[in-house]
Amino acid sequence: MATYQYRCARDGVFEVRLPMGTAAPRSSCPVCGGEAARNYCAPMLSLARRELITAIDHTEKTRDEPAVVSAVPPARGRSRGPVPTANPALRRLPRP
Ligand SMILES: [Zn+2]
Repeated sequence: MATYQYRCARDGVFEVRLPMGTAAPRSSCPVCGGEAARNYCAPMLSLARRELITAIDHTEKTRDEPAVVSAVPPARGRSRGPVPTANPALRRLPRP
């Protein structure tokens, strides 16, 4: 659910909670029943968790300034040998 703002010419701003993307450009005022236009405003990202804000900032940065590497990063903790399998039928297959 998202919170959308509408502005009634007579009663001012009011908020409506609707599923994301379903807000109509106009709504009826809960006080007078008149027509109210949608009031576009910045999303309330300050209420999001810190981890989410960090992930959004990191994504924005990699889009604008992608990291450039000169070599393949070293494998950490991975062996280059065959991957063991738990399926006994696959263990009998020939190995390279
Ligand atoms: Zn009104």
